[in-house]
Amino acid sequence: MATLALVINRAIDLSGQAAGNRGHIAGAPVKAADAVPQQPSVPGLEGSACVSYAPTHGHLDRTVYIDAGHGGLDPGVVGTTASGRTVLEKDAALTVALRLAGLLRSDGYRVVMARTQDTTVLKLSAADSNYGAITSSAEHRDLAARAACSNAAGANVLVSIHFDGYSDPSVGGTETFYDAARTFAAANRLLATDLQAALVARLGAADRGVWTDDQLAAPTLTGSGQSYNHLIELGPLSQGWVDNPSQMPGALVEPLFVTNPAEALIASDPAGQQKIAEALESGVLKFMTGPA
Ligand SMILES: [Zn+2]
Repeated sequence: MATLALVINRAIDLSGQAAGNRGHIAGAPVKAADAVPQQPSVPGLEGSACVSYAPTHGHLDRTVYIDAGHGGLDPGVVGTTASGRTVLEKDAALTVALRLAGLLRSDGYRVVMARTQDTTVLKLSAADSNYGAITSSAEHRDLAARAACSNAAGANVLVSIHFDGYSDPSVGGTETFYDAARTFAAANRLLATDLQAALVARLGAADRGVWTDDQLAAPTLTGSGQSYNHLIELGPLSQGWVDNPSQMPGALVEPLFVTNPAEALIASDPAGQQKIAEALESGVLKFMTGPA
């Protein structure tokens, strides 16, 4: 509950900061300073999902799409600290995402958040829940909606924030995934490499490396899409499975393992979350300003 309360507070903080220049991608009017011409709407989303925030300092006319993994019925990985406090991947991801958004906005970037509260991005119906858990069908559609939002946002770069999990609590470290099958695979790899290097430098956790998304050993992320063998948010077109693939360089970071008690403590601690957000900020800045 403590973690959840913290997340809600952060969400309110960000909304407060953004008063007057926040716009919903899915059709609500946006202020001129934040407007993107002809935003296609993304149907069926939560009201607090797919939200655009103008820069708070300077205007670089570049957009970073920040996706906090999981949310709502989908907790992601569940871990515990050494003192027995439960840490949910969805909560840590959202808090880091909100902190990263604040940093990048002050760097002059427009930020579009896949979600800003403890919800899925897609608005779920009763049929999307099975004994309180999200169905794999709903998870697939939720991930597709996140890719659709990144396209609707006209984002220049996509960063998806997750935390890792493993059955052995001694396993820890940092890893980052990208898709090698896209026409912009080289940019994906560069982004993933920049984010991974910044996270490892800042957190000092084990460097587990940069991987392509067909090497990801996490069936919950891809649900029944085993044959697709890519992350839905990063991967290429596949008729009937990924009809609206993300159209910008993207990477999925796993800064720490929440199943490792020491790393769960960092991932759920405000100072640790700030460190992760600052590392991601520096990785994004390196990618955005470095040689193409
Ligand atoms: Zn995850």
